[in-house]
Amino acid sequence: MMIDSGPLVAVIKQCTSLRELKSIQAYMVRAGLTQDAFLASKLIESSALSLTGHLDYAHRIFSWTHYPNLFMWNTLIRGYALSESSMKAISVYRDMHASGLVPNCFTVGFVLKACSRLLRPDEGKQIHSQIIKLCLGIETPVINGLMRFYVSCGDIDAARVLFDEMSERDAGSWSVMVSGYAQHGRPREALAVFREMQFQNVDIDGFTLASIAGVCGDLGALDLGKWLHSYIDRKSMNIDVVLGTSLVDMYAKCGSLNDAMKVFRKMCERDVMAWSAMIGAYAVHGYGDKALNVFAEMKRAKVRPNCVTFTSVLCACSHSGLVEEGCRNFQSMWSDYGIKPQIEHYGCMVDLFCRAGLVSRAHEFIKNMPIEPNVVLWRTLLSACKAHGYAELAEQISRQILELEPQSGESYVLVSNVYASLGKWSSVSKVRSLMKDKKAKKNHGWSSIEVDFTVHEFVMGDESHPEREEIYRMLDQMAKRLKQEGHATTTQDVLHDIDEEEKEHALGLHSERLAIAYGLLRMSEGSPIRIVKNLRVCRDCHEATKLISKIYKREIIIRDRIRFHHFREGKCSCNDYW
Ligand code: ZN
Ligand code: ZN
Repeated sequence: MMIDSGPLVAVIKQCTSLRELKSIQAYMVRAGLTQDAFLASKLIESSALSLTGHLDYAHRIFSWTHYPNLFMWNTLIRGYALSESSMKAISVYRDMHASGLVPNCFTVGFVLKACSRLLRPDEGKQIHSQIIKLCLGIETPVINGLMRFYVSCGDIDAARVLFDEMSERDAGSWSVMVSGYAQHGRPREALAVFREMQFQNVDIDGFTLASIAGVCGDLGALDLGKWLHSYIDRKSMNIDVVLGTSLVDMYAKCGSLNDAMKVFRKMCERDVMAWSAMIGAYAVHGYGDKALNVFAEMKRAKVRPNCVTFTSVLCACSHSGLVEEGCRNFQSMWSDYGIKPQIEHYGCMVDLFCRAGLVSRAHEFIKNMPIEPNVVLWRTLLSACKAHGYAELAEQISRQILELEPQSGESYVLVSNVYASLGKWSSVSKVRSLMKDKKAKKNHGWSSIEVDFTVHEFVMGDESHPEREEIYRMLDQMAKRLKQEGHATTTQDVLHDIDEEEKEHALGLHSERLAIAYGLLRMSEGSPIRIVKNLRVCRDCHEATKLISKIYKREIIIRDRIRFHHFREGKCSCNDYW
């Protein structure tokens, strides 16, 4: 008797549970249909993909089939690649190879996905050479998959080689490159690919836009970020929760809190990341109360906070001196939400106590931590000791820090500054020579400013800029006017950075000064000067910038490594506390 498998396939497709699938399988056994490849492949597909989580069952059906076809192999590999047991995708792929069957584009695509998820560079490279052997490399989706694999393993240059050699790129290929550069901290290259993408009129998807918004945030490129936003509006694109959150974050990092809030309020759906971004935005700008209000609103909206949310909340408390509020929230993390505090939360608490001048409390807190404190915590405490005159404790912690981190230039600079402030000059020179012996790496400072959609980057005493002559003339003028206003270079942070940076420091050539000079030269009157700096602003530059904002009647916004400083009419939003 011949049985038409058509109706059975329709039934399999409608199954909503494993039990139903099993009863069909029982019927197939009774009807002698177990080796019907078409039916078996539908069973595997249903159990492995449609009803996720039944891979064991799918694998069993697969093993019972004497001659599994390519579709079955692919389905099984795909199911495993997307599951928690991605490793099995690779082993099934190996079995397939051993069975003599030739993989196709789909097979390699799925197994590459598994390699990306597992961060298996060696296996992925093997697949790459098989792709070349099998001549599958002419297919755009296959190359996109390979690029994604290289990006996920951190080898973005390998992805770039493939990208450059592609004969036909689709929107996905561009997107992989842009987001790859963005994720791996190469914002300039991300922007270059993005520009090329516009030049070639490629449709830009939401994912790419979110990546570029992230890049604008990192670079503080507000004009470009605004252009991006208007592009989204022009194309009537849907701002989903991911894109919306990246816009909130971008505006906040570019110093435009109002725009961040506007985007946030317009979002139809807000998940925990969106709320956390908004709380974090208020926190780094020093609006602790507003951050806490948004946090309260989030709880009223029944969105459960996660560890990122609490980092933002604690950071908000710390930047606004809300000690008790901070302690309460720290408690509530575990007691109300079952979230175990991580090192960054402990870091926020230490920062909170230190900023409030509660040095002993911070020290007690560190000593009683259930996890090992890291060097960042000790450094925070040491800075506080210096600021509040705890000489003995400062010396003890200094020794500890240098033992913990003998290779970090930052630690040496901090420690030598502490000794200098205590007047212990012999210790200062000891630390200096120690630093030279250990060849500790200095973290070089840079500042960037966006003018006419171009981001200009300056290092200290930079002479590489094409408009350097004008910039230095401006710096001279700034120095003169600062002097007239009574600015005296503070020597407190004389060892802000050691050696050559010192004398440039005295000349007022820290990178942010160059960026400010360039901003005064090139930004139209009335528009604020926005600068991003990778390190903390030193005390002298902070004082100078306050005066510059008054002398030149300019709003200057500097985002340093720690927070935002809004300089206006001779004052800073941080109230000289950072
Ligand atoms: Zn400075
Ligand atoms: Zn400030």
